[in-house]
Amino acid sequence: LFVSFEGIDGSGKSTQARMLADRLRATGQDVVLTREPGGSPGAEEIRALVLQGDPDRWSAETEILLFTAARRDHLERTIRPALEAGKVVICDRFADSTRMYQGLSRGNLRAKVDALHDLMIGVEPDLTLLIDMDPEIGLSRAKARNTVEERFEDFGASLQEAMRAGFLALAKEYADRFRVIDGARDTDTVAEDVWAAVSPHLT
Ligand code: C5P
Repeated sequence: LFVSFEGIDGSGKSTQARMLADRLRATGQDVVLTREPGGSPGAEEIRALVLQGDPDRWSAETEILLFTAARRDHLERTIRPALEAGKVVICDRFADSTRMYQGLSRGNLRAKVDALHDLMIGVEPDLTLLIDMDPEIGLSRAKARNTVEERFEDFGASLQEAMRAGFLALAKEYADRFRVIDGARDTDTVAEDVWAAVSPHLT
């Protein structure tokens, strides 16, 4: 079973991914909790190249290539072997983040993102949990945790709002695998909804 979490920065998806992994492990499931960009040694190197330093170092198109390269390595080295071994893979962000961030934030490059995805990745999660949240709440939570990503500030509030709307549209586009969960509630309540979405998929 391949589950991804998506959402804007500060939505709490990483916390929810961790809580889901813990709960699955408590039921005896073999779980691999991983993240993007990153999730394999090579992909973590690419993450550092893209997310640290000058945000204008790479063009939007080059960024699509780098994120897709990272995903390909992550898929080959981490995700596919785990799925083949019968493990549950929980991924904090996957291709939907590239459809949004690289596909929307610097012009509409969605067609290029999708073409490269079809060519080089070709895999979607079985289930994608969109932790939906007002960006203002997300930002204040991230600030409280002192984990505001550099790029959040670069993107700004209006772009985060566009990302939120984009994710909700994506959830409609891929309605068969997406579940939208209201992330503005307390962590345990959100986790219950996550569990309700995931548990029917367990064998
Ligand atoms: O999910 P996480 O907080 O680790 O993401 C790190 C940063 O990378 C975030 O600010 C996110 O907006 C950005 N990102 C991106 N493109 C992606 C995935 C994440 O710009 N495909």
